Amino acid sequence: MRLLALAALVGVIHIHHAPSHDSCAPFEDVLAAAYAAELDFLVLTEHIRPDAKGPLPAAERAGLYTRPDGSPLLVLVGAEFGTQDGHLLAFDIPGVIPVEGRPGREAIGAIHAAGGFAVVPHPFAYGGWQDWDAPFDGIEVHNHVVVLRRALGPLLPFRLLRRAFDREGSLRSLLVRPDRELDAWEKLLMSGRRVAAFSGADAHQNVSLLGWQLDPYLEVFRSVQTLCPDGPLEEEALWQVLRSGACWIRYRFYEDRADEATEVRFPSGRVELQLDRGRRVLEIRPPPLAPP
Ligand SMILES: [Zn+2]
Ligand SMILES: [Zn+2]
Repeated sequence: MRLLALAALVGVIHIHHAPSHDSCAPFEDVLAAAYAAELDFLVLTEHIRPDAKGPLPAAERAGLYTRPDGSPLLVLVGAEFGTQDGHLLAFDIPGVIPVEGRPGREAIGAIHAAGGFAVVPHPFAYGGWQDWDAPFDGIEVHNHVVVLRRALGPLLPFRLLRRAFDREGSLRSLLVRPDRELDAWEKLLMSGRRVAAFSGADAHQNVSLLGWQLDPYLEVFRSVQTLCPDGPLEEEALWQVLRSGACWIRYRFYEDRADEATEVRFPSGRVELQLDRGRRVLEIRPPPLAPP
């Protein structure tokens, strides 16, 4: 039996809501789902309009909230930019910086200059990421929308039917190990780069069929989570720990199968708890990285 790593702070990263052009979901929905999923933190990342200036969209949502049972929830606000080399998440930046539409490495340079760090989301989807030598600080190895999009295709009617009657089974068929993304991360680490891996919810709560919400925040928030080592639940401290590469990813959806998991260590030093002979993964842990 393999023990799950002890989590101190549990959160979800890469969330869109109404300030993004492709979501109408109110902040109250995000908050209610985060409370119900028992999260300690969440990170909003709205899309940035090309002409945007000033504070980040939803910047006013940042801060500490108290859920009905009295426990705290920290909301952090980053952003998702569009660059010539693909989408780019920017974290711990003071406001909108003019990187929209610029080459990826210029955008990353500007994010660094503003004191922030940059994470490549969905590196092989939505046009993917082009410039792998650019100095990004992290990549998403899991992106929940990419996972849900696996349901699209000729089997979609069958999958929708299955989802209606067997939600767990339908998610299980989609939540498989992200082989390509994990290979890319391993390659970056082996080349000596210090790159952190993230799971992105990319939650929009914007897909519904005849009033049936197919991507409710709560389901997304409960499926795959980011776990961080103990530390104060405070904005700067949490940005610091996310940036440090010390956090890990847990497929909470598979948590009750921890007894079956096999620990696999990779040449870079990173570790996975795998299920179903490597077809699925329960936990993705970072390699021990020296402080930056
Ligand atoms: Zn994106
Ligand atoms: Zn996104």
